[in-house]
Amino acid sequence: MKPKYKYCPHCGRHLTDDSAHGVKLRYCSACKQHFFNNPAPGVAVLAVKDGKILLVKRKLDPMKGTWAMPGGFMDQHETIVQAGLRELKEETGLKAKRGSFFDIATLETIKLGTVLVIAIKAEGTTGVVRAGDDALEAKYFDIKKLPFIGFIGHRKFIKKLVKQGNK
Ligand SMILES: [Zn+2]
Repeated sequence: MKPKYKYCPHCGRHLTDDSAHGVKLRYCSACKQHFFNNPAPGVAVLAVKDGKILLVKRKLDPMKGTWAMPGGFMDQHETIVQAGLRELKEETGLKAKRGSFFDIATLETIKLGTVLVIAIKAEGTTGVVRAGDDALEAKYFDIKKLPFIGFIGHRKFIKKLVKQGNK
């Protein structure tokens, strides 16, 4: 469970517990504002080539040292596809022409609470694979010989991809 906010991000006053909209929320009596604790949307990218899938070894927690699909959190003012293609470029060096919706998963994490992960498929990738940003390594793996993948949601996405005949 994500820790609750103690202070108002606007005025710095102590927040109190309050019930509104059918859920328990934090409330600032000075600003008269409730603070929602919504899940953060993240993106995971499927980059597939000749029956191989591009994975990155994570430099940071959560799941540090395990393999994962390239991805991360959405920034302000970008779409989920833009976020995915930006993360792909940052972590693997590859550029993609397009991205399309693939699947969605909800994960429970200790530090970040619930995370909503949207998987997209990258299409028309170009460039040379090289690990960057928070990836220790970036490598294509034969879809039949995958390493241990840390995130359950990513395993679910890849399983679905394999089931679809990995096209
Ligand atoms: Zn306030």
